[in-house]
Amino acid sequence: MAETRIGLIGFGKIAVDQHVPSIQGNPSFRLAAVSSRNARPDLGVPVFADVASMLAGVELDAVAICTPPNVRHDIARTCLEAGLHVLLEKPTCSTLSEVADLEAVAHRVGRSAFATWHSRFNDTVVRAAGITRAEGIETLDIQWLEDVDKWHPGQDWIFEEGGFGVFDPGINALSIATILCPEPLLVRGADLRIERRGQQPEVVTLKLATGGVEQGIGARFDFRHKVGECWNIDVTTRAGTRIALREGGAVLRVNDGPEERAVGGEYPGIYARFAELIARGESEMDAGPLRIVADALLVGQRSPA
Ligand code: NAP
Repeated sequence: MAETRIGLIGFGKIAVDQHVPSIQGNPSFRLAAVSSRNARPDLGVPVFADVASMLAGVELDAVAICTPPNVRHDIARTCLEAGLHVLLEKPTCSTLSEVADLEAVAHRVGRSAFATWHSRFNDTVVRAAGITRAEGIETLDIQWLEDVDKWHPGQDWIFEEGGFGVFDPGINALSIATILCPEPLLVRGADLRIERRGQQPEVVTLKLATGGVEQGIGARFDFRHKVGECWNIDVTTRAGTRIALREGGAVLRVNDGPEERAVGGEYPGIYARFAELIARGESEMDAGPLRIVADALLVGQRSPA
């Protein structure tokens, strides 16, 4: 297959930490340009101040959009209409209808759109899902606790409209939970503690249900957790198997067995999958995790954090 010339849009933490090395490490892709309003990285490729000048200034086959979610739909639509394949960071878009729109545009123009959920690319998560989907869910407990000042310094967008608040990291847990459950996850209640600027939740407790099980399925997301981090999911299956996912899914323990650590890395897996989708002429736009966040915001009880 011919090398895919890819442009990176938005040059913040995740672009630097994960996208650049994963593109450079995958022979199917060649980093061909960067679009950034502020950064001027020295990567040996042209850097443009906005997406329009990048599209006009360099030949590309694909883009990876690493901006905050609230501007992603419009950028993605422009790029698809320009004939490019599009990889979207999580959370895919601000709304479910934006995701549906991108899926429809990708289909119409015959290009691949890929809504990535990086936590799913741990082989440990895939192994856990094999067990839980075969045995069914009896209990599921998500604890996703971190310090916003430590993990999101300077990211003011996270508490602004369309910024997702604590759901920005929390949707990673939901991206795992939605593949662990053989039947849809339902939001039965949501306690939303809203950050002082009044837009996005800072602490969330969700009461969930799946497969007719209404008790013992839930999640807690907390941005005010100051000591260490906790990115844990614990499941008991209907057959009694205990699954513990730790470190955001990178570590798996089944019953009292040894801890297994994921190999291969999330973002190399994402780019391998993107290459596959492009080669097959397919899109992958799973809005499942975003749907749970939207449902929580629909039914949630709000109070100040
Ligand atoms: P970040 O460090 O704030 O970077 C986002 C970049 O997007 C900014 O540097 C800015 O880059 C660009 N940007 C911001 N507002 C924009 C706007 N209105 N229009 C166009 N570009 C804009 O954030 P991040 O941590 O990289 O996160 C970006 C996305 O990746 C989020 O959706 C997040 O959930 C996801 N993600 C983050 C992590 C993580 O560990 N941080 C992990 C996985 C996924 P320019 O100055 O270059 O334009």
